[in-house]
Amino acid sequence: MNQNSTRINGKMGEEISNKQVILNNYVKAYVKESDMSLRTSKIQLKIPSGCDDAVLLKNLYLSIDPFIPKHMKKEENYITPYKLNSPIFGYGVSKVLDSSHPNFKMGELVWGFIYLEEYSLIKDPNVLFKVHDKDLPLSYYTGILGMPGMTAYVGFFEFCSPKKGETVYVSAASGAIGQLVGQFAKNAGCYVVGSAGSKEKVDLLKNKFGFDEAFNYKEEQDYNAALKRYFPDGIDIYFENVGGKMLEAVLSNMRLYGRVAVCGMISQYNIEQHEGVHNLLYILTKRIRMEGYYVTDHYHIYPKYLEMVMPLIKEEKIAYVEDIVEGIESVPGAIVGLFSGRNVGKQVVVVARE
Ligand code: NAP
Repeated sequence: MNQNSTRINGKMGEEISNKQVILNNYVKAYVKESDMSLRTSKIQLKIPSGCDDAVLLKNLYLSIDPFIPKHMKKEENYITPYKLNSPIFGYGVSKVLDSSHPNFKMGELVWGFIYLEEYSLIKDPNVLFKVHDKDLPLSYYTGILGMPGMTAYVGFFEFCSPKKGETVYVSAASGAIGQLVGQFAKNAGCYVVGSAGSKEKVDLLKNKFGFDEAFNYKEEQDYNAALKRYFPDGIDIYFENVGGKMLEAVLSNMRLYGRVAVCGMISQYNIEQHEGVHNLLYILTKRIRMEGYYVTDHYHIYPKYLEMVMPLIKEEKIAYVEDIVEGIESVPGAIVGLFSGRNVGKQVVVVARE
C-alpha cells in the first residue's frame, strides 16, 4: 500500500449496492434502450489489498456522449468495444472515497474516465483530472470545463487557426461542443452560422449563443442551397460534427485554403453502411486542410484551455446550456436521445449530489 494512501472514516470496508449500466448485446445499427440494462452489484468501500495506484470513486454526474454507441459495436476500427454484461465506461465527475494513488486523496473531486455506475474502482486513473474550482457547478466538468470544452478548444483553435473576419460553419451547433465552438468563433471575430434540428435550438443559437445566423437542417431539402444562402462567398472553417450528406454540401461551399476540423460524424455512428462523400476532389482543388482528431491526444494542453475559458465563465462572457436528468436509470434513454436530438445542450445525468 502506498504511503500517501488515504482512507475513509466510518464506512470503511462496508459493502454496499452499486447500480451499473451494462451492455446486453453488441449493436449493429441504431442503439436502443433495450441494448443496455441496469444491474445492481456489490462493491466494498475500500481499495482491495494489493491494488496500488487505484482510486475508489463515488460518481456524482455522468456525461452522456455520442461516442458511447461506437463502443457497443463488436468490430469498429481503432475503437475498443465494451465488454458484454460489464459496466460501460464514459466520463463523469466523482468524489474520491479511497485512494492508493499518490496523486489523489480522499475527499477530492475529480473528472475523467470512469464507468457509468454509482461507484467505480479505477485501477489506472491516468485520465482523471482534479476539480480545482468548486465555486462553479460541478456538472460543468462534464462539459465546458471537461472533455467537450477541450474538444471544442482543440478543434477550433489548434486545428482551424481562425482569423478575424473568417466565415465559420458549425453543425450540431446547439450541443455540448457546438455551442462552445460558436462562441469561441464569435470571440475570435468570425462570422458564425450554426445548424441544429429544431426551432427551439435555432432560437438558442441566435439569441443565447450569439451566432450570426442559424438554420434547422431538418427543414432543408437541399443543404447545398442552404449553405449558399448563409455563405454567399464560401466557408473558411467548418467544425464537423455530423458527416454524411452535410459534409458533402460543405465541401462544395468551402473556400480556397479552408480548414475542416473533423470532430465527429454523428450521422454515421448508427448505420451499418457508411454514406459516401462524392466530392472529395475539392480537398485538392481548394487546398482544404481536413483533419480528424481525438481530444484524448491533447489533454496536456488542458491547463491552457482552463486559462482561456475560466475568465469567460466567471465574467459571464460565455453562455452554457446543459440538459440535466436525474437518476442512473435515465442513462440508457439519455444515450439513445442524443441520436434523435432530444437533448438541448450538454446531456448530463445526476446520480448523486456531493
Ligand atoms: P451533442 O451535440 O450535445 O449531442 C448530439 C447532437 O447531435 C444531438 O442533440 C442532435 O442535435 C445531433 N444529431 C444527432 N443525430 C444527428 C444526425 N443524424 N445528423 C445531424 N445531427 C445529428 O453532442 P456533443 O457531445 O457536442 O458531440 C458533438 C460531436 O462531437 C459528435 O459527433 C461527437 O461524436 C463528437 N466528439 C468528438 C470528440 C473528439 O475527441 N473528436 C470528443 C467528443 C465528441 P440536433 O437536434 O441538432 O440534430
